[in-house]
Amino acid sequence: MKQSQLFTKTLKDAPKDEKSANAQLLIRAGFVDKLASGVYDYLPLGLRVKKKIEEIVREEMNNIGGQEILMPSLTPKENWEKTGRWTVEEMYKIKDEEMGLGWTHEEIITPMIMRHILSPKDLPKYVYQIQTKFRNEPRAKSGLLRCREFAMKDLYSFHSDEKQLDDYYEKVKQAYFNIFEKCGIRNETFLTLASGGTFSEYSHEFQTITPAGEDTIYICPGCGIAINKEVKKEKCPGCGGIKFREEKAIEVGNIFKLGSRYSEPFGLKNENGDFVIMGCYGIGITRLIGTIAEVLSDTKGLVWPAPVAPFAVHLIELSMGDVEVKEKAEEIYRILQNANFEVIYDDRDDKTAGEKFNDCDLMGMPLRVVVSKKTLEKDSVEIKKRQADLSQLIKIADILSNVQKSI
Ligand SMILES: [Zn+2]
Repeated sequence: MKQSQLFTKTLKDAPKDEKSANAQLLIRAGFVDKLASGVYDYLPLGLRVKKKIEEIVREEMNNIGGQEILMPSLTPKENWEKTGRWTVEEMYKIKDEEMGLGWTHEEIITPMIMRHILSPKDLPKYVYQIQTKFRNEPRAKSGLLRCREFAMKDLYSFHSDEKQLDDYYEKVKQAYFNIFEKCGIRNETFLTLASGGTFSEYSHEFQTITPAGEDTIYICPGCGIAINKEVKKEKCPGCGGIKFREEKAIEVGNIFKLGSRYSEPFGLKNENGDFVIMGCYGIGITRLIGTIAEVLSDTKGLVWPAPVAPFAVHLIELSMGDVEVKEKAEEIYRILQNANFEVIYDDRDDKTAGEKFNDCDLMGMPLRVVVSKKTLEKDSVEIKKRQADLSQLIKIADILSNVQKSI
């Protein structure tokens, strides 16, 4: 994409009402725009990141047998009354309080699945969606970390017994770690024991360490397990260790063994008359965007890992009105695109070299490629990874292999 055509503009200063680093950077770089507290527009660059994260999540869910569906956001009161969750404060109620905007979907999927799961041989089944969710959130001041409208992946599993659920639960854990690995935050993300509800002693959260996080977790250096502050015990349940490291963290995912918490009120049984055992598994898609922005950014701007970057390459021409340099840059743009690299090409004529470099660092693509009169004198371009201190000259003839190697 040519940057001269991109309708979004970068901002020098962050908006005054936006306190969180993730929202400041994402707004300044033109990825999102704030409409209201906890409600954001996703602009072309931000939407590309969102779609890439969704695709990573979708691939991992499909790998563990997930079948994708889409349930409505608009949900009837009677479903929520069955489980006693109509009155929770998160629920946005509309249409004379007869409908609510879904903030989770157990109450919708459980009665739906009853029409399809009839016998024990229909089990297990795994169904997920990537859906816009709504939460009436009084504390929406952390940018994309806590929104009133947000995108979430929610997976629900249905089992005939606890053993089946336990086995699947472990598969989901691994799939989640694969997702966080591809999103570049695996090293900062800890499987965290949290309060478990009715069915098991603990549930599990995936908590990513960042000073912007609203949760406090205790990490056991012995076994690497973390414990949420709300369930902290004297000894580590993993290894019995007694020393912990306290960190601020943001919850990027959670997994729950629900047991029959939702199958009972809706009467979801198999033909043997047993209640179906359920699990549910969430990942905040848009929260992940905010988390990556918090964790991986530096003083110059955003730093996107290649799998979620809106573009792999930020090509910059410094032609200063020189037609030959401009033409060569256009040619390199075509060469990279023809080799299927995603390229944003800064072809703007009204920006200085310094402005182009600053925007490039702020937007945070993995690799910068610069074409100028100086580089062309050596039949070369200059390449630099986003966080590298130094750039290197490479021959134009070798550009594809070098770009491939660098992202
Ligand atoms: Zn431990």
